[in-house]
Amino acid sequence: MSLPCISLVLPCYNEEAVLEQTYTRLVEVLGREEQDWELEILFVNDGSADRTLELLKQLREQDERVRFVSFSRNFGHQNALAAGLAYAGGDAVVVMDADLQDPPETVLSFIERWREGMHVVYGQRSRRLGESGFKRKSAEWFYRCLNLLSEIPIPRDTGDFRLIDRKVVEELKRMPEQDRFFRGMVPWVGFNQCAVAYERQARQAGESKYPLFSMIRFALDGISSFSIAPLRFATNLGFASIGLSMLGILYALFMRLLTSIWVPGWTFLVITLLFFSGVQLFSLGIIGEYVGRIYREVKGRPLYIVEESQGFASDKG
Ligand code: UDP
Ligand code: MG
Repeated sequence: MSLPCISLVLPCYNEEAVLEQTYTRLVEVLGREEQDWELEILFVNDGSADRTLELLKQLREQDERVRFVSFSRNFGHQNALAAGLAYAGGDAVVVMDADLQDPPETVLSFIERWREGMHVVYGQRSRRLGESGFKRKSAEWFYRCLNLLSEIPIPRDTGDFRLIDRKVVEELKRMPEQDRFFRGMVPWVGFNQCAVAYERQARQAGESKYPLFSMIRFALDGISSFSIAPLRFATNLGFASIGLSMLGILYALFMRLLTSIWVPGWTFLVITLLFFSGVQLFSLGIIGEYVGRIYREVKGRPLYIVEESQGFASDKG
């Protein structure tokens, strides 16, 4: 009987500082002779500007199990994951970061649970090492809001680090959306899913590629691709403001017709004007977010462009 194949998918963006270390650790933990599975290590080079591609070529020369796909420019982490799933050939695919923040040892427990019949095993962070208090708190609040808004519960404290069975990978490949939020798409697919706790390590080398601004974008993608609640919120806000302004109108009429102190209405006017134009702009903004996404979606562009790849039947470059 042939051995099952485990594919490791690692998106890399300017990871020259840590790549070799990552490879060594992966092989040490998951690629030992006596282990009864075959290993495929699939790196997705997301348009790195440093020596990442060069290092990947070297690794590929040393070790046949290493394969890589290299993009023509930076398409973003979530699109790199899409490419990883499309190219991975294993019976189970493990998605992890290239900076060793997701410990390879945890993958051993993932595989165990997978063999017990789980289709998705996701890592749940019990502790985050080397991350700022701000990042931790903001992540916590983000997941709280996300779950309030979205129809499918998204497990808290999970990242993209997870093992996915071939069956689920095939379903994910049928989801072509442009604004991708992998950690929400996987629960959406269903099947048997379970969590394994792990301690998220500090980045081993190099710098985080998610500055604050991209984190906010990512959070917005997460919410708007999983829920239309913000749109509904805009409508509700609109209704509430109409109700409020009705009261304001009654009040103004009352003052004008039944009292003699109707001249000093200026403050009131300005305040209501400002308030409601704020509400309108805000609601328009929410709608605009979604319209923008529809626009991107209808263009139907590919999620990424592969410039070069090694280790596949359809090799490029
Ligand atoms: N990454 C990527 N494309 C990007 C940004 C990041 O492929 O545009 C990869 C990066 O190389 C790493 C993973 O995504 O393997 C997670 O990124 P990072 O460690 O910078 O994020 P953090 O762990 O700080 O959230
Ligand atoms: Mg990281």
